[in-house]
Amino acid sequence: MDDKKETHTRTLTEIQSAGAKFKNVLSLPQFETTPEAVKATAERTIAEGDKLLDGIGQLAPAQVNFDNTLGALDQLGHQVGATMGRLYLMKETAVTDKMRDAATDAVKKLQDWGVGLDYREDVYRAVKAYADTQPALAGEEAKLLAETMRDYRRAGLALPKAQRDEVEKLRKELVAVGTDFQTHIADTKKALKFTKAELVGVPESLFEAPGVKTGDDEYTILVNVTWQYLGVLENARSEAVRQRVTTEQHRLAMTENTPLVEKILALRHQIATKLGYKNWADYVIEVKMAKNGATALEFEQKLKVGLQPKLEAEMKEFRKLKVRETGDANAKINLWDWRYYANLLKKEKYTVDAEQLRVYFPMQSCLDGMFTIYQRIFGLKFERVEAPYKWTDDLQLWAVSDSQSGEPLGFFYLDMFPREGKFNHFAVFPIIDGKRLADGTYQRPVCSLVCNFPPPTADKPSLLSHNDVETLFHEFGHAMHGILTRARFVRFAGSSVPGDFVEAPSQMLEAWIWDKKVLDSFAADYRDPAKKIPPAILGKLKESKYATYGSHYRRQLSFGLTDLVLHTQITDANVKDCEALANATMTETFLPVPEDSFMLAYMGHFVGYDAGYYGYAWADAIAADMATVFEKAPDGYFDVKAGRRLREEIYAVGNSRDVNESIEKFLGRERSVEPFLEKIGAK
Ligand SMILES: [Zn+2]
Repeated sequence: MDDKKETHTRTLTEIQSAGAKFKNVLSLPQFETTPEAVKATAERTIAEGDKLLDGIGQLAPAQVNFDNTLGALDQLGHQVGATMGRLYLMKETAVTDKMRDAATDAVKKLQDWGVGLDYREDVYRAVKAYADTQPALAGEEAKLLAETMRDYRRAGLALPKAQRDEVEKLRKELVAVGTDFQTHIADTKKALKFTKAELVGVPESLFEAPGVKTGDDEYTILVNVTWQYLGVLENARSEAVRQRVTTEQHRLAMTENTPLVEKILALRHQIATKLGYKNWADYVIEVKMAKNGATALEFEQKLKVGLQPKLEAEMKEFRKLKVRETGDANAKINLWDWRYYANLLKKEKYTVDAEQLRVYFPMQSCLDGMFTIYQRIFGLKFERVEAPYKWTDDLQLWAVSDSQSGEPLGFFYLDMFPREGKFNHFAVFPIIDGKRLADGTYQRPVCSLVCNFPPPTADKPSLLSHNDVETLFHEFGHAMHGILTRARFVRFAGSSVPGDFVEAPSQMLEAWIWDKKVLDSFAADYRDPAKKIPPAILGKLKESKYATYGSHYRRQLSFGLTDLVLHTQITDANVKDCEALANATMTETFLPVPEDSFMLAYMGHFVGYDAGYYGYAWADAIAADMATVFEKAPDGYFDVKAGRRLREEIYAVGNSRDVNESIEKFLGRERSVEPFLEKIGAK
């Protein structure tokens, strides 16, 4: 484009009035600037919420209609969501302690209040009175009614009073036991002492870490500290040492938590059956894409079988190394060996120095490059806007519009660099979600990318690692999922999709930065932009990534399968079998577990991600499957048609229709795990 034509950048007001022509509301969050204001906001939100709920609860059966029941609840969700989104962001990004603390308190208060909402019987009665009129609803409205009633049923409100009280009692007990379980994990410590000779192979950096050297020739390894445990397992040449560390790791919290695991499984089974489900997995997974335990289990089994040849090939490589190293022709690979030989294999076969790639990834070029790609494939235009309020000086605000119609679609903030007290990973925080408002206008979404890229120095720009760029492409996918929504109700907007799907589109977008063409479109040595990434390095990096993926994945599956097997087979009657069943499943899926061990006792995921561990693999498989649409398209990862389809069939609809249907519409066929197996080299 001609440079002269590009001089005018639009102001916020201009973008807002452009939005008005499309009946779009493009408001920005109004950030509180004092702790008192934060507190007042939380109190006001709760008071207004209670008032709205009281209004619904007071409706007589003859008065109920869609708008004053389900519509009002969705309106409440939007109001509370917008307050929560803003306060949650402040909790993680506010510059002063005082503001972060105030936001933390406010978020906690709102969350506590939110827990009771599903149990408001007066509101339930009004919604049920509306459902009983058997309204002729279709599409998104029908889905909203069905899922709202489902939530009430899941909360026990459809049960007679005595049974409901019983379920509530069991639930409270479950929460209490779960808290004890997590406390035991947090409190568990196990120190093992070694001489330096025993730890030969372990990197010097581990010996120098604070607390490790505890005597003249005494080194203390904390088995409960992941980097210390992995540091030994990946590097210690002595099998006896690796075995001791692995065994102790698998026994962490065993004494304290084994009875609690049993208690938790029994309670979960009782709650699920009282609510009318066959087992806990069916209860938890009902609201996910997989819909029931059997489907999730079948998926994991299929993946397990598919990975078998890759696992065997890797084990053969590991064994070769072990035979060479020990001189024992009959050496076999045990649970305490695989990490060590996987590491050795990578060191010998795939030496890549990932750090040397940083010079190709100055942050600004990566951002520009990513923006160019996403604007192209999704048919969008991003413009930098002057933010009326900035929580940090280097904050950027961007507006997103449709490139064809010019319709403004939403905003995102970029908060790129670390600072004290700030959230220390990479994530997208939704601030305002999309929703059609009562007057027919549409509230467009706002979100923020919160990143921790290395800040520029006096002589160098901010240089990202390849991994950082992958994260950027992933996280920005979540931003797109939110901003491109067309869902009518906030409950279904953007990334409010089932938990076993939400990561899939973003995981798919990670594939972009393994493509040479994509990388060459923006990555270049910042000291000499004519220099692109040498193809050999990228190839090696990819090979190295998948070289031991079969083992890595089968180990993951051993957790996922154990989780599902327990939550489909253990009842309150056979709960004493859980230890044997878990250990047998782990052994069968990966490698034999150490004697007298029960790793589940130390797995935090058991509480909070129960009957949900399969979701990682589930989303991975969908991501690889969806990526094939681009891979087969004429323009590959730059393909405009495939990008529009992703926008229309996945991002725009969000959860307003069944995700299974959306994926098939996007793929143009049924789902398959084959592309995933192919991608990781198992085919
Ligand atoms: Zn993500």
